[in-house]
Amino acid sequence: MLAYPNSYAVGMSSLGFQRVFNQMAEWPDTVCERAFMPEADELAWRRKAGKPVVTLDGGRPLRNCDLLAFSISNEYDYVNALNMMRLSGIEPRAADRTDDWPLVIAGGLCVTSNPMPLAQFIDAIVIGESEPTLGPLLDTIKSMGSQGVGKKRLLKQLATLPGIYVPSIHSSKSPKASIMRQWASVESLGARSVITTPSGVFGEMVMFEIARGCPFNCRFCLPGYAYLPYRECRMEDLTQILRSFPENARIGFVACSPDSHPSFREIIDLARAAGHEVSIGSQRAEHPSQLGEGKFSGTTLTIAPETGADGLRKVIGKSLRNEAILNTVASASDSVSRIRMYFIYGFPFETDEDRAEISSLVAQVRACTKLPISVSINPFIPKPWTAFQWSPLASVNDLRKWRDEITKDIRAIPSVEVRFLGAREAHIQALLSRGDHRVGEALLNRLDGDGWPQAFQKAGIDMNWVFEPLQPGATFEWDFINMGFGHTRLAREYNLAQSTNQARFKTPEKLSDPVPSQPESSPCP
Ligand code: SF4
Repeated sequence: MLAYPNSYAVGMSSLGFQRVFNQMAEWPDTVCERAFMPEADELAWRRKAGKPVVTLDGGRPLRNCDLLAFSISNEYDYVNALNMMRLSGIEPRAADRTDDWPLVIAGGLCVTSNPMPLAQFIDAIVIGESEPTLGPLLDTIKSMGSQGVGKKRLLKQLATLPGIYVPSIHSSKSPKASIMRQWASVESLGARSVITTPSGVFGEMVMFEIARGCPFNCRFCLPGYAYLPYRECRMEDLTQILRSFPENARIGFVACSPDSHPSFREIIDLARAAGHEVSIGSQRAEHPSQLGEGKFSGTTLTIAPETGADGLRKVIGKSLRNEAILNTVASASDSVSRIRMYFIYGFPFETDEDRAEISSLVAQVRACTKLPISVSINPFIPKPWTAFQWSPLASVNDLRKWRDEITKDIRAIPSVEVRFLGAREAHIQALLSRGDHRVGEALLNRLDGDGWPQAFQKAGIDMNWVFEPLQPGATFEWDFINMGFGHTRLAREYNLAQSTNQARFKTPEKLSDPVPSQPESSPCP
């Protein structure tokens, strides 16, 4: 059984969830059903009536399956996963569970980067991508399970598999064993939605993966590091997969940076020639010509400038210039229906002037197009295994003040919608993403009804620790994961950010060379 600890709409819009579901459902002698976190009213009813969470496909209670696998892509869903277990009569704490099935496993980006908050709840955690790990894991569970082997012996065996962290064997507190992150070969890429639904976030669009990882290692970005090495799907595989699509499908290409695929334009043309409608997900902004001719109806052009200042963008490791963004908007405006821009504020090394550049860039984009623009602004949250993992989260008061300033300026620009993540939520997310095994107690307290401050306090965690900078190179409890790169590289990247920042104030004229931060002649029509 594959469970997504969030709503059906969110889960079905996750290509990662669909990919793992397909992999499990297609594995020999395996039946896989989906389960999702019930919506609030259903949840209240189930609680009141004492009804367990059941699978969507077979109406089977979670506790009746052999294997309960959680696909977790957001730290905020940790409590939901525990809630789904408790509602289903499964003890959240692994030590409180008997030898009975199901076995509980979990995987996903956040548990790969830091599995410690969930270590006391999950029997086995997949570190890395599912393609190389899931098959051996399922085969071992099936063969030993059918022989009536007890859970303890089974877990001992699972602990020998590459990329599998078993807290009861490796320890759920500061493990010493080294668990190597696993990643898929290029040949096994090319995931696509296996089920489309009008209730999904993207409607009936078929999501189609054309690359995994990102060719740009922005210093704050977890996917950029955790999906290393960057891999592009081979054209022959993409062509073959495209042939299997239903007629007149609406396709959304999925990758961190789709237009970085050298054959992106060819892929679009191929899909269109086969009669499909093409929707572009996110556009890196340097390659407007990759979009080619033609309309991407109902498509949002998604651009992630992160910040409005070219200088700060260079510091955070994003090689993108405002001029390129404006060029892309100008050239894509006739092909798409709306523009979405993603910004982050509260970055390390950010100045008041940098933040003011956010609304200034939005105003320049507004001047380029009449299309509706939606802007999402979120606080910087330090994530494990990034060059900025030692950086502090800005204080909640500062985050609120800065958010109010930015949103006020953006709201003064006509026809621009603004959305943001709250400062308090960012604080909790930072505590969950960089937390150690003690966060598990806070999750249980929260599950029992405590507010977050009380939940952390009872777990003996000072919530303010994430506001303090750490020494680059300082160690963490999640260091036992072998990501394929180490803290030395990350610390070097951090130092590089620091020197780039010093350079931008010493020689500002050099930074804007060769591309001026404000285009001399506007690319806008
Ligand atoms: S922020 Fe975007 S461009 Fe940068 S590494 Fe992450 S996914 Fe890639």
